[in-house]
Amino acid sequence: MPLLQCGNWILEGKSSSAVATYIRIKELDLIFDLGRCPMNFIGTNHVFISHFHLDHYFGLPIYISQRWLAGMPPGNIYVPSSGFKQLKHILNKLSELDAGKGWNYHILPVETGDAIPFRRNLIAHILPGNHSVPAVSYLICEIRNKLKKEFSNLSGKEIVELKKSGTQITEEVQLPLIAYLGDTRGISIDAHPLLNQCKVLICECTFLTPDHRERAKKTRHFHLDMLPALLEQFKSEYIVLNHFSRRYTSDLIKEVVYNQLPPSEHSRVNLFI
Ligand SMILES: [Zn+2]
Ligand SMILES: [Zn+2]
Repeated sequence: MPLLQCGNWILEGKSSSAVATYIRIKELDLIFDLGRCPMNFIGTNHVFISHFHLDHYFGLPIYISQRWLAGMPPGNIYVPSSGFKQLKHILNKLSELDAGKGWNYHILPVETGDAIPFRRNLIAHILPGNHSVPAVSYLICEIRNKLKKEFSNLSGKEIVELKKSGTQITEEVQLPLIAYLGDTRGISIDAHPLLNQCKVLICECTFLTPDHRERAKKTRHFHLDMLPALLEQFKSEYIVLNHFSRRYTSDLIKEVVYNQLPPSEHSRVNLFI
């Protein structure tokens, strides 16, 4: 299974267009899309589905049933609201067929504009998708308490005194950690004020070569031609490209991507292959 180190996090999983995409970041206890479900993903508690193409959600029945069989509490599965009812219907039918009983599962419909707190200190902002079917993107931020600006010049002793007097000395700030765009024809930088500062950006790059430009446009996928504009807009330390078409070999992907990039961008562009 491919592994990619991005700072303190390891991206683990697989991503191949039309086959399966599933990416786990164990350190954040989350999975982006679940086209298949490896057994070691079962214990991860948060699953964010970008859209209802089979290669992005077909691992859900395994994830749900394996947790149920193991007596684990259901994981939190976030899905675009457009397919929420149909998905529940399908899962209930599968559950009947498989066990004759209802699997215990927890699915939450999400829509653009939602902000969903999870774990102790994380929040998922739901951003618009841009694909051939209804889709969403995700921006995960960390919530931190920071000393308010007006108190930044005070000494430690003065701060302690203020705190003792009951004054609210801190305010909540959000730190953009990671954005996952799912299958996309690109995202507007205005989708969220913190988006372009995310530490890691995971963006698909299904098509690479000039002869696939039209196909990319028609199927609402990202083409390598669009990468320079994205790199210009995003300040991310790690840009991770995934979901390459099966037409391309790993060697061809590396060659075409890095030949097209200026050397100054080579170190922050990573391939999840
Ligand atoms: Zn896909
Ligand atoms: Zn798709």
